[in-house]
Amino acid sequence: MPEIHGGCRCGAMRYELALDALPPTYACHCLDCQTWTGSAFSQQTFLPEAALAVTGPVIVYEFTTPSGNTSRQRMCGVCHARIYNSNSARPNVAIVRAGTLDRSDELRVVAHIWVKRKQRWLALPEDVPTWPESAPATELLQALAQR
Ligand SMILES: [Zn+2]
Ligand SMILES: [Zn+2]
Repeated sequence: MPEIHGGCRCGAMRYELALDALPPTYACHCLDCQTWTGSAFSQQTFLPEAALAVTGPVIVYEFTTPSGNTSRQRMCGVCHARIYNSNSARPNVAIVRAGTLDRSDELRVVAHIWVKRKQRWLALPEDVPTWPESAPATELLQALAQR
């Protein structure tokens, strides 16, 4: 099995993914993601939480989502880079900020959500599925599984 590693900006928090290959990712163009990343979109992937092994200091930021679920965000305890989160609506699933992977230059984006809020300069490839707002989890997982 190839080793897949990632981590925070300062290097104190590191993680390893027990996967055969780099996971496919999706981009979210919603305002929250733009605000949180300070960028055009967030790039993320779903994993079984058991496939994620973290070392180093972790701090947790929790909030209640509009749908009443609890989102638990995990950040490096030193530099506060946000690495992954889980949501009470999807037990045992980790949503990893894919740009924190060491090999982020090799990642593929196979779905785009919240494209109605995407930055206007950004042109998306026509062969990649998009949703105007959030995608139903089943459809998004299907898009990730097909690539
Ligand atoms: Zn750090
Ligand atoms: Zn978003």
